Amino acid sequence: EGRNAKAHAVLLSSPGLGHLIPVLELGKRLVTVNNFKVTIFVVSSLTAAAESQVLQSSMSPELCEVIRLPPANISDLVDADAAVVTRIAVLMREIRPALSSAISALKYPPTVLIVDLFGTESLGFADDFKIPKFVFIPSHAWFLALTIYLPRLDEVVKGEYVDEKEALFIPGCRPVQPEDVVDPMMCRSDQQYAEYVHMGMNILMADGILVSTWEELEPETLAALRDNKLLGRISKVPIYPVGPMIRPIGAVDHSSKKLLFDWLDKQPSVSVLFVSFGSGGMLSNEQMRELAWGLELSRQRFIWVVRTPAVKSGDGSFFSVGSGSSNDKLSFLPEGFLGRTQNLGLVVSDWAPQVEILSHPSVGGFFSHCGWNSTLESIMNGVPMIAWPLYAEQKLNATMLAEGLRIAVRSKILPSKGIVGREEIKMLVRKIMVDDEGRAMRARVKELKLSAERAWTRNGSSWKALAQAMC
Ligand code: UDP
Repeated sequence: EGRNAKAHAVLLSSPGLGHLIPVLELGKRLVTVNNFKVTIFVVSSLTAAAESQVLQSSMSPELCEVIRLPPANISDLVDADAAVVTRIAVLMREIRPALSSAISALKYPPTVLIVDLFGTESLGFADDFKIPKFVFIPSHAWFLALTIYLPRLDEVVKGEYVDEKEALFIPGCRPVQPEDVVDPMMCRSDQQYAEYVHMGMNILMADGILVSTWEELEPETLAALRDNKLLGRISKVPIYPVGPMIRPIGAVDHSSKKLLFDWLDKQPSVSVLFVSFGSGGMLSNEQMRELAWGLELSRQRFIWVVRTPAVKSGDGSFFSVGSGSSNDKLSFLPEGFLGRTQNLGLVVSDWAPQVEILSHPSVGGFFSHCGWNSTLESIMNGVPMIAWPLYAEQKLNATMLAEGLRIAVRSKILPSKGIVGREEIKMLVRKIMVDDEGRAMRARVKELKLSAERAWTRNGSSWKALAQAMC
């Protein structure tokens, strides 16, 4: 009670589950841990059925007030083939008038404003109320470092980043390999690059930056972000590692998936590989077929969430999860695949309760696109990964997992560039499910799980960081 009882945090989430899920979670912690009143404004893409499902089920009991802003039509403002970052940035710009009136109409005036990475152009609304403003990064500190250092790189690097011969230097941080740059840095003439540079500058207008990582996961990078001689020179803004912000088990209703859990219950412990590429990941037809063969040849148990193959691997379904009929979805599979693997694996169409699956004792590996939420969910369940980065900042994540934390294996071929063949896939699967290498990774990921749990116990590093940020 006391002063905090009157605190009212207003949060803004951009579209995409990778943003919505951690923002909802942050909202819930502000209620349960900090005793705040919380209102969450949600900007959703029109077609994302999965977002509705998450929204409906994740707010019971109803801890926060969730308000959907009326959808803005951006079709006249962006090309039909505009990149995801461009579309989200434009959409977030368009909803500003609606957000502004919605904030003004709130019964209880806000005492703090928190926007996610894509909402930085709304930070100024906090000034109208003379309240502190925060940016929440639903990713890690290394990504944050790259993002705020980008305006500097923009000045010193002349050509395309992907053509650089040397790794990109970020003071005090692990250098970024040219092939690992985030999607919006792949082509500097694309609008999404300008949008991203702009975000890198806007973030620094906040009074504080909350990041979905924890002190013990990225000590060097966090130190660099704070060190005045290194990145702190650029960002004088305090950084608060408050992660991992992930959805707890049971937040989504999965009664429709009873068969799947009955099947999982019958499998030996740590024997099943979970294969899924997030809310937006799609593979090409050819890659899907190689993956099917690789799984079959590995002779390991699996649960595979499949989507209709894309023309090319990438993030095609980001705005349209849940489209397409389930029959065409399976037609790309090799002839006889389902029959031959019926005792080994399950193929699930479109969507699966990921957190519940990863936390099941039968699951022993995660074949993942390395979205940051998926990564955190894997760590929090002590599950090593096969890193298969597709879009957004996933190549950075994959490098951090495979080379930094050493809890993932990956192919030398970037899945967004070439086709990874069945033999290599079989080898990757066996590495984490069967070989000693996988066992060592499982031991390391369990250590990380413990450190993440400690971060969120009372007086743990993330618990304290959030309390400090909000005091
Ligand atoms: N997710 C899920 N079932 C699916 C696909 C995704 O529950 O079939 C959840 C997943 O657990 C995670 C989020 O959606 O919390 C995806 O976020 P992430 O950052 O991993 O990837 P993105 O979808 O943003 O690329």
